[in-house]
Amino acid sequence: MNSIDPSLAAYCDAQRDAHIDELKEWIAIPSISADPEHRGDVRACCGRLVARMAEIGMMASVLETDGNPLAYGEWLGAPGKPTVLIYGHYDVQPVDPVELWKSPPFEGTVRDGKIYGRGSVDDKGQVLMHLAAIDAHLRTRGALPVNVKVVIEGEEEIGSPNFEAALARYKDEFAADIAVISDTAVFAEDVPSLTTSIRGLVHWEVTVSGPTNDLHSGYFGGIVRNPIEALAQIVASLKDADGRVAVPGFYDGVPEIEPEAVAELRELPFDEAREAGGLGVPAFAGERGRLPLERMWFRPTLECNGIWGGYQGPGSKTIIPSWAKVKLSARLVGAQDPARVKRAVEEHVRAVAPAGVRVEIHSDGDVRAVVTSRTHPAVAAAARAMQAGFGKAPVFIGTGGTIGPVASFDRILKLPQVLIGVGLPDDQIHAPNEKFNLSQLFGGIKTMAHLYDELAAL
Ligand SMILES: [Zn+2]
Repeated sequence: MNSIDPSLAAYCDAQRDAHIDELKEWIAIPSISADPEHRGDVRACCGRLVARMAEIGMMASVLETDGNPLAYGEWLGAPGKPTVLIYGHYDVQPVDPVELWKSPPFEGTVRDGKIYGRGSVDDKGQVLMHLAAIDAHLRTRGALPVNVKVVIEGEEEIGSPNFEAALARYKDEFAADIAVISDTAVFAEDVPSLTTSIRGLVHWEVTVSGPTNDLHSGYFGGIVRNPIEALAQIVASLKDADGRVAVPGFYDGVPEIEPEAVAELRELPFDEAREAGGLGVPAFAGERGRLPLERMWFRPTLECNGIWGGYQGPGSKTIIPSWAKVKLSARLVGAQDPARVKRAVEEHVRAVAPAGVRVEIHSDGDVRAVVTSRTHPAVAAAARAMQAGFGKAPVFIGTGGTIGPVASFDRILKLPQVLIGVGLPDDQIHAPNEKFNLSQLFGGIKTMAHLYDELAAL
């Protein structure tokens, strides 16, 4: 089976305008999970998706959690066939700065073959691919070749704080043979790809405190340790001159990349100077002696995300500040253990902190990296589906980002996972002017329609 069933393809093509209209309706609901003012919109969006799933012939319901509800739909009319759990999310990121949007963020607008709007690709448009594909099967054949369960989350953009509890609470609804997650991008428009690794995530806030309050730098300069200087020493100690993280034990559990994988990375079209220029930096940095794609996908990072303290108003104010703070985060790979990494960084920070200040550290986050097997039959099926949908066999890539629910599926449900997203790297997700290329959307719908046929044959 290398090509999509022509009747499925014809149906998908005939529905293109309907799919765009449907996506516009979803985009119009400002389901921003980070903003409590939009709680009603979040719930309305969940309701809209449940209604849509019911409309296309699935058994659908709202699954309540301790936070935003899940939109759930199932079609289980294929006894003896695999059950596919499809995951996506309907919540979106905030839209500021709103003045940078060329069309209103909650008004899906088609320009030059792309649909613009918040959530167009992350992740409403990618959820729509699956509902459209399910609809195509049910309308053309009256049945799906596999059992499907669709779970659409409403808190992915705020770190999925209630997702693991929901996994436990709705065990029956989540019982499946394969998980399919569509919340990632391909390498480039003409390079279809399947993602086989996702990095984990932990973070810290470090507070360095000195005197009880800001002090006169003339009277006390020379006898009191400056918390900003102490913090700067700590931050500077985190990496060595080769860009390697200098925290003892940080790299425990990081696998060394195989030579074949390096060779594969070299095959991918990646122009370092152009990519750096596109980001507005004069050159890339990072661990010496490793390819940029390796550093982005297969190596851990430790980054400063924010730093503040002392006087920041107009003019000068000659003080020794009372305190200084930094926020740090690490992306994890391989078998790195979040708890151990958190401890290692805390111990290092305490060890290098100079005398004369107190250090307080809070850590958070517990997401492990996920590596899926590219030899799993479900992944091979997904590769054939992508070839059918986009006319080209996909390459295997990693992603530097983190998708918490994928880690939960991996650790708790222990399901084989297929990470099949079709966004593009320039889709501006989380930024103004988020868009989804219609060619990717329509190719994605056909890919998913064919994927179900491929998975039925496993
Ligand atoms: Zn997303």
